[in-house]
Amino acid sequence: MPRDPRYDVLFEPVRIGPVTARNRFYQVPHCNGMGRAFPTPMAVMRGIKAEGGWAVVCTEQCDVHPSGSTLKEIRLWDEQDIPYLSRTTDLIHKHGSLAGVELTFMGYRGMNLESREIPMAPTARPVPYAVPITARTMDKTDIRNVRRWLRQGALNARKAGFDLVYVYAGHDLALPMHFLSRRHNRRTDEYGGSLENRCRLLRELIEETKDAVGDTCAVAVRIAVDELLGPDGLTSAGEGREVIEMLAELPDLWDVNVSEWEHDSATSRFTEEGYQEPYIDFVKRLTTKPVVGVGRYTSPDHMVSLVRKGVLDFIGAARPSIADPFLPKKIEEGRLDDIRECIGCNICVSSDKLGAPMRCTQNPTTGEEWRRGWHPERLPARDTDDTVLVVGAGPAGLEAARALGERGYTVTLAEATRELGGRVARECKLPDLAAWARVRDWRLTQLHKLPKVEIFRESRLDAAAVLETGASLVAIATGATWRKDGVGRSHHRPLPGLDKIRVHTPDDILAGVLPEGPVVIFDDEHYYMGSVIAEKLARAGLAVALVTPESLVSAFTINTLEQAAIQRVLLELGVAVMTGKTLVALETGGAELACVFTGRRERIAAGSVVLVTMQSPDDALYHDLAARPDDLQRAGIRKIVRIGDCLAPGTIAAAVYSGHRFARELDVMADAVPFRRENVALAEL
Ligand code: ADP
Ligand code: SF4
Repeated sequence: MPRDPRYDVLFEPVRIGPVTARNRFYQVPHCNGMGRAFPTPMAVMRGIKAEGGWAVVCTEQCDVHPSGSTLKEIRLWDEQDIPYLSRTTDLIHKHGSLAGVELTFMGYRGMNLESREIPMAPTARPVPYAVPITARTMDKTDIRNVRRWLRQGALNARKAGFDLVYVYAGHDLALPMHFLSRRHNRRTDEYGGSLENRCRLLRELIEETKDAVGDTCAVAVRIAVDELLGPDGLTSAGEGREVIEMLAELPDLWDVNVSEWEHDSATSRFTEEGYQEPYIDFVKRLTTKPVVGVGRYTSPDHMVSLVRKGVLDFIGAARPSIADPFLPKKIEEGRLDDIRECIGCNICVSSDKLGAPMRCTQNPTTGEEWRRGWHPERLPARDTDDTVLVVGAGPAGLEAARALGERGYTVTLAEATRELGGRVARECKLPDLAAWARVRDWRLTQLHKLPKVEIFRESRLDAAAVLETGASLVAIATGATWRKDGVGRSHHRPLPGLDKIRVHTPDDILAGVLPEGPVVIFDDEHYYMGSVIAEKLARAGLAVALVTPESLVSAFTINTLEQAAIQRVLLELGVAVMTGKTLVALETGGAELACVFTGRRERIAAGSVVLVTMQSPDDALYHDLAARPDDLQRAGIRKIVRIGDCLAPGTIAAAVYSGHRFARELDVMADAVPFRRENVALAEL
């Protein structure tokens, strides 16, 4: 299909200083958990974005010196680091896109754990994350050194083939932003005091980067124009705006956002598409230079309106480009319903936080482009004669059926209930999780286009029914059920007193049960479920206590950048948050808790208890079939496989990945390492 002319504006070329982007789609810098530890997977992932139509493809933060760096992001400490970055720029250029690099000096935010150099700051202060390191106050020589290192970094970046070089002052992660900030900068010399003085380093860095490479490379500034800290930080009505006013025409491009990372990459549980607009929409009025901004943009109409209203010149994206690297191509080719929209869950961020190669709920191929050879849009043609039965239409079953169908297999997808989507169909009805339905919706849209996939609803299959289907390969994707006995991380045996009080699980709440109050929620799982149920019940007017052995509510969500927002919402709703406590017994009209440190007991009143501890696989069908090898053989079934939560309950992302992997590999668990990995190049002794 040709593209709709109303989207033509998105495909106009835009000049950025000495270079030109072929359209307005701009993949802003984003972390990916690969960085310098997995340089080829990182490079190939960036190349795929260019192939998918992003006119500018940027790296994540790129450290220029051992005294201001992280352990894992990419680096350009000297020329030794050029080759793997040249591989990245080559792969981006191959598809006609511009390669951008986010040169970084981290200041107090880099702990220098590799180099053991003392971190530096405008004014001495402790580094974050409760690590016992103090960043020292920089003297004039230090400032000159950092300027020289960033200038050299720009020259090396050009040698590596980059077309666009960043001066990074965003997310409170980079030294120029620390100098800008009143709370970090208490200096009394010409780099402190007035905003003009605090802005001096940023101005010098822009000028020096332009002087070094500005004849051939565009120089971009990434800056947080609002830190959402009120007068303690930069604000878009105050100093954030004044900085843009002062430097308006100096860089070739402004990449503007809010800070810190949890605000910039806010999840769909807390924000809508376009949530940064009120903070950044003033920027274009102050400069003639192109402006890029982000806000989980996946709607082409929204994108067009941003350009037409004069808010942005480039549609910036990190997460939408991860969930669908081919988003621009799909708009260009008039295939809007093929766009795999980001659900705003931040599983991608969590992988980076955990130091693992990036994964994505919507795009199971991310991070696997090189190591497993998985292209996000192309699957290999069918290479066996199997006909496949997939039992269960949750995220694992839907993805397996879709990807198998794309490969050309004949697939039967049987679902017990009337509704497709499994846990996603249920969980998207919880407070503020509506965007998660996109996991189901995109797959259903694709499935309807696949003539060789047949879907049967209200078809609960037992072993006898499976044996009659005539399939040669069977994937059991029947999901999992929350345990009702308290067994989980803290308890290896059922809790005493289960018969003394009404006990519910998340499955009951998802089915619409409203428990009797006051409700005690025992969250021993630590992801979203405990807190979202607490929110739902509190909003329904029930008195709720949330008990967790961790020291924070939903402790895992530190990794999805949601923790602070979750705890704030619960506290504001009046939920009694009881951390560092475990549930040890249930009683008539209450529950007994124990402090995880002292063991001291206390009793809490309850009309009912919701146990959020762990899920058990619904794998009875699998075991029934596995116990009948002769029947399987007679029925012509060569293999049965468990996928998704039926194999091991986990995240939705893990279920989608499991379904996808099954469709690609038809379940090969071999002795050999199942993916390529980087050869370690040994240095001379
Ligand atoms: P996953 O996350 O692994 O995809 P879900 O729990 O989301 O798992 O989905 C499992 C789906 O399987 C549910 O929609 C459920 O109704 C369905 N299901 C469970 N048992 C059967 C069965 N015996 N036959 C057909 N469908 C089943
Ligand atoms: Fe979007 Fe979630 Fe994928 Fe991240 S993991 S890109 S937030 S769908």
